[in-house]
Amino acid sequence: MIIVKNSRELNDMRDACRISAQALQFAGESIKVGMTTGELDRKIRHFIEKQGATPSFLGYGGFPASACLSVNETVIHGIPGDRVLHEGDIVSVDVGAFYRGYHGDNAATFPVGKISDEAQALLDATRESLYEGIAQAVAGNRIGDISHAVQAYVEERGYSVVRQYVGHGVGTHLHEEPNVPNFGTPGRGPRLVPGMTIAIEPMINCGTHEIEVLPDGWTVLTKDRKLSAHFEHTIAVTTEGPVILTQP
Ligand code: MG
Repeated sequence: MIIVKNSRELNDMRDACRISAQALQFAGESIKVGMTTGELDRKIRHFIEKQGATPSFLGYGGFPASACLSVNETVIHGIPGDRVLHEGDIVSVDVGAFYRGYHGDNAATFPVGKISDEAQALLDATRESLYEGIAQAVAGNRIGDISHAVQAYVEERGYSVVRQYVGHGVGTHLHEEPNVPNFGTPGRGPRLVPGMTIAIEPMINCGTHEIEVLPDGWTVLTKDRKLSAHFEHTIAVTTEGPVILTQP
């Protein structure tokens, strides 16, 4: 069932989303060459808890950390640990905060020091595809309009869309209905109505769209070990158009 929020509920959810966005911004500013993903995760956790919120991902399905930190060929769900961030890496930070009954969820891929033109182009295309998707999150449209906009934008540029993982509704639960795929057909899927809150989150690969999950049950890698990027916002469908809730 898709849960539609009234204006009071949307307002309550804004705080969780703002804290999530601030945590993501803080993570981006904290990234330094030579630090480990474990160190970065501890900083993010401290930041969220300082705001009086709880990291949404900590313990979710048994996830052992506060943020998913996915480096280079890691698509999503990277477990923070001893991996050192090197100049030229890209690191995807996916983080959510739970505050006063609601979750926010957002992600971005950050450069570590100076990165290659190839990596920068992937980051730019993935970020832009998110905004192409958001522009379709208009009441009366369908989920497939969002999906198609993301897919068309990146495939025109020679990238591929991960199929096995998709965006989702967000609210009192981190993952709610509907699914929001990053590939699909315009005019298909659930209709968008004011009050729906969804996370749109393109996961875009330089090479094949195929992925592989490590034996740890979490870490998702590109099958060909080429680069992958991930950008995400939680948005609300409103009578005035899409509103990005995950703004710092
Ligand atoms: Mg998400």
